[in-house]
Amino acid sequence: MKFALVDGKKNEAFKGAKGVCPCCGSDLIPKCGDIRIHHWAHKNSKECDHWWEPETEWHRNWKNEFPGDWQEEVMPDPENNERHIADVYNPSKKLVIEFQNSPIAIDELKSREHFYKRIIWVVNAENFDIKILPLQLIIKEIEEVERKYLRTPFNSFFKIPTQIREMLIKRRNEILENKMVCEEQIRILMETFESEFGTLVSKHQTGTLKPVGVEPNQLKNELLKPIFLRIKKEVDVPKNYGYRWLRRRKVWSCADEHVFLDRGQYLYWLKSDWVIRKIAREDFISHYNKENCIKDSG
Ligand SMILES: [Zn+2]
Repeated sequence: MKFALVDGKKNEAFKGAKGVCPCCGSDLIPKCGDIRIHHWAHKNSKECDHWWEPETEWHRNWKNEFPGDWQEEVMPDPENNERHIADVYNPSKKLVIEFQNSPIAIDELKSREHFYKRIIWVVNAENFDIKILPLQLIIKEIEEVERKYLRTPFNSFFKIPTQIREMLIKRRNEILENKMVCEEQIRILMETFESEFGTLVSKHQTGTLKPVGVEPNQLKNELLKPIFLRIKKEVDVPKNYGYRWLRRRKVWSCADEHVFLDRGQYLYWLKSDWVIRKIAREDFISHYNKENCIKDSG
């Protein structure tokens, strides 16, 4: 950690200092060697916040772009005793910025998003194999995926009951509410549709009346069209680029909140499996460093 409490005040590590962890209250030892960046370490190697990852120079450089009292903010949950250390907390935006260097499991990603509520992710993507592609190529790719799901028509004899239609529409809307759209979400939605349809067909007995409800192919369109409309819309926005990510870290497609891949001078803001937005590092920093304008206007 960069900061410990020394005599009740946030302090960086220095030789001979005695610090207390602002999160768990246990003693911290200053580590001021020549190789690793100066930091504080718990006496007991078991870290207090299990979300905490070993701090690297990459972390430290990012944190230093923000005011000191925004860094390593201890965030308590008022409902239980859970406490975590947010890398950066912008109090006027009530927003946590997490800098993630090592791989993260999907469960942990979900718990952090749930705990912090408003959070953005900045991921060290220096070694990720990402290529920018011409938008033309990307439009083709998106259309291929769309065709793949629209290709096989359902037997229109069987109708989809209203409650199943409503359940599927709700799932579709959840995808549209997500900060980024990925193919995996579409695949899961269509699998749910197919399994519901299969159940309907297997339950149907010959000789019974024609089932009532929505025509299945019409419903498929209703589910897919808005999703692909949104994906295609993002192609057209300035500063958006098509991309291909080899050995994609799928976990980042599952994030509910915004994900920015740090590529050095630029950050790639994930918009969908096909589109990213390029943001200059200094624009990103000045945007998230901003406090609310209310103070200034007074
Ligand atoms: Zn601690």
